[in-house]
Amino acid sequence: MRIDQILKEKEITISFEVFPPKTDDKYAAVEEAARQIAALRPDFMSVTYGAGGGTSKNTAGIAADLQNKYGTPVLAHLTCVSSTKKFVSDMIEVYHEKGIENIMALRGDIPKEGRSVFDYDHASQLIYDIKCRDENICIGGACYPEGHVECERPSEDLLHLKEKVDAGCDFLTTQMFFDNNTLYNFLYRLREKGIDVPVLPGIMPITNKKQVSRSVALSGATIPQRFRMMVDRFGDDPAKMAQAGVIYATEQIIDLISNGVTHIHVYSMNKPEIAAGIMNSLSAILGSGNAEQKE
Ligand code: FAD
Repeated sequence: MRIDQILKEKEITISFEVFPPKTDDKYAAVEEAARQIAALRPDFMSVTYGAGGGTSKNTAGIAADLQNKYGTPVLAHLTCVSSTKKFVSDMIEVYHEKGIENIMALRGDIPKEGRSVFDYDHASQLIYDIKCRDENICIGGACYPEGHVECERPSEDLLHLKEKVDAGCDFLTTQMFFDNNTLYNFLYRLREKGIDVPVLPGIMPITNKKQVSRSVALSGATIPQRFRMMVDRFGDDPAKMAQAGVIYATEQIIDLISNGVTHIHVYSMNKPEIAAGIMNSLSAILGSGNAEQKE
């Protein structure tokens, strides 16, 4: 099912993300984690994509299984910056053959060692190519409430985001953020620029201290005092940090829904227990269809 349709039909939605394994020997473990998250019955699941395209078959495999074996609507990611037009076109064909209706169209990070292919510079070009192949595909795009790390001025980033939406994005998902006011402010600026597609806030539950120096630092997200104090207090105790991180993320979600931002995406990082912790805390808010874990 198309994700834009799901967003229209349901007032409140929750989606989870999994990332494919880099090596084939880890495939079964990720497949099992994806199955357990799917059993929580989120409204859809996204499957990320290795920027270089090296794990592309794993993205396609896990996405197809989620959709075809477990009946979970799926969003398969696709990046372009390190790929040729031919490779990207073949990948779009693979997704098409597997019946995938939703693609998250991304540029991908520019490799540290520099680029060896120059077929794509920006995600908007990929969106254009997907639309040319099949205009019925529902396309998601990435957006950055605090600005993309490469862009010096947030206002310029917004202009490029508008181009991306005009190229054919049906919805946007945000980079992680830890202060909801950042998101509310961003949404206001989007509407001012005439960007009116649904925006799904991306919530990252931080459940271990290492994530702060790795993913959070890379994303460029501002760390509020309240968040920093939580990590200082619980960061050295894995069980306490895991619990505090899930509660922090759940509180962010409750505040978002209370303020009318009702389509939530959770970066669940292949961790069924985190997805389940959030689902259980929100069972009444999300409605009975989402509440129970089906084995
Ligand atoms: P773009 O939209 O192309 O933007 C990249 C930069 O280029 C921005 O600074 C923008 O302002 C600028 N720009 C855009 N158009 C122009 C223009 N015409 N002229 C000049 N500048 C321009 N990475 C992965 O490898 N795999 C994934 O599965 C993945 N999933 C993600 C999901 C989400 C929700 C998010 C937020 C990010 C994800 N990423 C993923 C990371 C993403 O690939 C990087 O953040 C990447 O650096 C930017 O990708 P983009 O699609 O936003 O690029």
